[in-house]
Amino acid sequence: MMELLSPIDTIKGVGEKTTKLLNKLGVYTIEDILLFFPRTYLIYPEVSTPNPDSVNSLISIAGRIKTSPKVFRSKSRIDVLSATAFVGDIPVDLVWFNSNYLKSSLEPGKVYVFYGRLVFDKNRYKISQPLIFETEKYEELRNQIQPIYHLTKGLSNNVVLKSVKAALDNCKLPEKRLPDEIEDKNNFLTYSQALKTYHFPENFDELVKARKRLAYEEMFFFILNSRLQEDKSVSYPNNFKICHHSQTDDFRSSLQFALTGDQDKVLNDILSDIQGEYVTQRLIQGDVGSGKTIVAFLAMLDVALSGYQAAIMAPTEVLAKQHYEGFVKWVENAGLNIPVALFTGSMKASEKKAMAKLVAENDSCLIVGTHALISEGREFGNLALVITDEQHRFGVQQRDKLSSKGEHPHIIVMSATPIPRTLAMILYGNMHVSAIKELPANRLPIKTCVIKESMRKTAYKFVSDEIAKGHQVYIICPLVEASETTEAQNVTDYSKKLNEYFDGAYSIGVLHGKMKPADKNQVMEDFANHKTQILVSTTVVEVGVNVPNATVMMIENANRFGLAALHQLRGRVGRGSAQSYCILMNSSSDNRESERLNIMLKSNDGFFIAREDLKLRGPGDMFGVRQSGEFSFKVADIYQDADELEMASQDVDELLKKDPSLDNHPKLRSTLNSFLTNQFYVL
Ligand code: ADP
Ligand code: MG
Repeated sequence: MMELLSPIDTIKGVGEKTTKLLNKLGVYTIEDILLFFPRTYLIYPEVSTPNPDSVNSLISIAGRIKTSPKVFRSKSRIDVLSATAFVGDIPVDLVWFNSNYLKSSLEPGKVYVFYGRLVFDKNRYKISQPLIFETEKYEELRNQIQPIYHLTKGLSNNVVLKSVKAALDNCKLPEKRLPDEIEDKNNFLTYSQALKTYHFPENFDELVKARKRLAYEEMFFFILNSRLQEDKSVSYPNNFKICHHSQTDDFRSSLQFALTGDQDKVLNDILSDIQGEYVTQRLIQGDVGSGKTIVAFLAMLDVALSGYQAAIMAPTEVLAKQHYEGFVKWVENAGLNIPVALFTGSMKASEKKAMAKLVAENDSCLIVGTHALISEGREFGNLALVITDEQHRFGVQQRDKLSSKGEHPHIIVMSATPIPRTLAMILYGNMHVSAIKELPANRLPIKTCVIKESMRKTAYKFVSDEIAKGHQVYIICPLVEASETTEAQNVTDYSKKLNEYFDGAYSIGVLHGKMKPADKNQVMEDFANHKTQILVSTTVVEVGVNVPNATVMMIENANRFGLAALHQLRGRVGRGSAQSYCILMNSSSDNRESERLNIMLKSNDGFFIAREDLKLRGPGDMFGVRQSGEFSFKVADIYQDADELEMASQDVDELLKKDPSLDNHPKLRSTLNSFLTNQFYVL
C-alpha cells in the first residue's frame, strides 16, 4: 500500500527519469499525482476516410502499411521514421520524430488505426506523430473517455495516465473529508470515487458529478480558511498614526490626468480606513485599465510620508518590475526623498542584500516585489500597509504571509476579476469592498473584430498602419514552440515569419513563460520603452502589464482561449487616449466557435462575457478551457461552479455558527491544513 505522502517513485514503473519529469510539473508525492487533474478529455473519433473537409482536424484513419517504415536522419539531426498508410487507395504519409522504436510495431501488410491532425501538403495527405493502435484495441478505446494531462518534453500522456492509475489502485483514499452532515446533505460521490471518476470518467454525467464534489470541496476549504482568518484579524486595534499629507495632493495635481470620480472615492475609502479604529481589510475591484495602480501609489505615499513602510506584491516579475519603475519615477516627479525597494526572485543575492539594507535603514519607504517579498528571513519591521495586486493570482496563504512580516498592517487587495458583489462577499468574507467602475474619461471603447485566415494580409496591413502612426502592437500565440500534436501558432516560428513578412522593417520582441525572468524583464522593458514595435507573446502578458502606447492586440488561434482570458488580453490595449483595436483570428471552421467569439463584440463586461461563454458550451467541452483560473483552484471555477460556491458558503457559515474554532472537528482541521499546503501556488 502507498501512503498519500509517499514519494512518486514508489509507483512501479516510475523510475528516476520519470520522477524528474513529474517533479518539473510540481508532482512529488502520491497525493500530488492524484490531484494532478486532466487538462481536458478526449473521445477518439470514429475511423474516417481522409477528405478535403477533414484537413486540419484531428482524425482517425484505418490504413494498411504496405512496406516496412524507413528511418533517416534529418538536417537538424532528428531521427525521422516514415511510412505510408493506404486507406483504400488513398495514401497518407506518416512521420514520427525520434521514435525509431516504433518501427518494429508496424508490420507490413497489416491495418492499423492512426490518430492525429491531417494536413494536405504537396498534393498528399500527411499526419505527423500519429498515435498507433491495433484495430480491435481502438474500438475498445472508443468507448472510453481519455484523460489528457499537462505534459512536459519527454513525458508522454500514457506514462502519466498509467502512474495515476497505479496511484489510484494502490493508495487507500479517505471516503469522507467533510463533516458527516455535509456529506449526507449534498449527496456527493465519496472523495475517493470523485478522484477516480475525475481522472477516468465512464461518461460525462459521472464527470459532472465528480467535478461537483471536488469543486465544492475546494471552495468549502477556501471559504473556511478565510472565515477562520477573518475572525482572528478582525479586532486588531489600529495603532498606526497615518495622516493625509499635502505633498500627496501636490503630486496628485502634478499628474497629467485627474483621477476619475471612482478612483477618488476609493482613495478616500482607503484613507478613512487607515485612520480608523481597527486595522482594515479591503478589496478593490476594478476592471482592466481602470487605474488601480495610481490609487495604490497615492495611498502608499501617505503611509510613507507618515513614517511607515508600505508594500505592494504582484504575481509576476514583469509586473513587479513595472510597478517599481513607475513608483521610482513618480517619487522623483514628486520631488520626494522616499526610497523604493524591489524584491524579485531573479535578482542577484547581492542586489537583494542591498535592497534589504535599504529597507532596514529606512523606517519609511515603499516596497515592491513578487512573492519573493514573503520568502523566509525577510523582515519589514515598520510595515503599515500591504497591497496585493491581481489578488486572485495568489494562493490562499501568501497574502497572510506578507502581512505577518509586520505588526498587523492594513491589508488591501486589488483584483480585476469582474465578479458581482454577492460573489465578492462570499469569496472575501467580511472584507470591505470598493469598486472602480468608471474608466478614465480619455478612453475610447476598444474596437474588436473576429477574422479568418483569408484576412491575414489585411490585418498585417492594419498593423503596419498603426505602427506608422507611432503605436505598438501585441500579437499573442498559444504556444511557445512548435508542437507535434497541436496545430497552433507558436511565438518562436511566428516571430521569424513575421519578420520575413515585414522584411525586417520592425523590431519584434518575443516573450514567453519559459524564458528566464531577467530576459523577460528585458523584453518587456524594451517594449515599454518603444525599442520594439511588435511584441509576439504567449499569454504571459495577460496580467497587469501596462504599455499605453500599444493600440493593437491581435490574438492568433483565438478560438483556443476561454473568453475570460481573451477579455484580460484585450485589456492590455485601450490604456491611452488613442483608439485601440483587438483582432481575434479564428482558426476553427466550427460555426459554434465563431458564435462564441462573437460574444467578444457584444460586451466589454468581463462577467457578462464569462457567463455567455458558458451558456454556449455543452457539457463535453466544459472541461477543455479553464474559464478564469482564479484563486488558483485546481478544479473549481467561480463562474462555472457558482452554485456550489454559494452552497459551500452557506455550509461553512452554518458549521462555524455551531463550532466557531473547529474544536469539535479535529479531523476537518487537519484536512484543511493539508488542503492549504496543496493549494500553495507555484509561480
Ligand atoms: P489597472 O486597473 O488595470 O491596474 P493601471 O493602473 O495599470 O490599470 O492603469 C492603466 C493606465 O491608465 C495607466 O497608464 C495609468 O497611468 C492610466 N490612468 C490611471 N488613472 C487615470 C485617469 N484618471 N485618467 C487617465 N489615465 C489614467
Ligand atoms: Mg493593474
